[in-house]
Amino acid sequence: MNEVSAPLVVALDGPSGSGKSSTARGVARALGLDFLDTGAMYRACTWAVLDAKVDLDDAHAITAIAERVDIVSGLDPDAPTIKVDGTDVAGPIRGDEVTAAVSQVAAVPKVRELMVAKQRSIIAASQGIVVEGRDIGTTVAPDAAVKVFLIADVAARAERRTAELGGTAAEVSATQASLARRDHKDSSRAASPLAQAEGSIVLDSTYLTLDEVIAEIVALVEAAR
Ligand code: C5P
Repeated sequence: MNEVSAPLVVALDGPSGSGKSSTARGVARALGLDFLDTGAMYRACTWAVLDAKVDLDDAHAITAIAERVDIVSGLDPDAPTIKVDGTDVAGPIRGDEVTAAVSQVAAVPKVRELMVAKQRSIIAASQGIVVEGRDIGTTVAPDAAVKVFLIADVAARAERRTAELGGTAAEVSATQASLARRDHKDSSRAASPLAQAEGSIVLDSTYLTLDEVIAEIVALVEAAR
């Protein structure tokens, strides 16, 4: 009988702006693994909800959109893609409108159920994958070989996020407030809130470079293999 080995899964969770995406992509690249940005899936769903002009307080209508749309994530860490019903939404999902609405859409339990099921089937079909989000170690892939909870000081996160978006120094405090708002919503929602998973390793990236964070996680994965 052939033994089917489970794919290597690296779960990377943490608050907004902690550097998860760049880190996850760097780790996937270094180890030749796939990369899944689950935040981009919730953002894509939110884009579809806004596009349909649905009331953000109407969980039923949001659920109906989430059930109807086909969200496809490209898994190449060098060129991640995200499509909704064949439309490339990689640009618009990073805009202010989606960013302001995503935590509300992501808090709808049925949306989470649909996204988690999709994420699990992507993971099961992969040979090895780095998955980043908020609930990967707790809910999506609790049996992941390596679970990392990436944190950073909120002021440092705001500075990095502002620089990434090409903003000015004056915009840092608005970015910090927006990150803090999302942290609060993501951590206090009833359905799989942002939380440190059992067995996860906390990495504080405040005083580390991106390359140092990637190297630490690569070492953890190699030790776990
Ligand atoms: O990671 P990113 O900031 O792009 O995620 C956008 C939003 O999607 C988060 O603020 C959170 O509300 C939601 N999210 C989630 N669960 C995940 C990934 C993201 O609820 N696994």
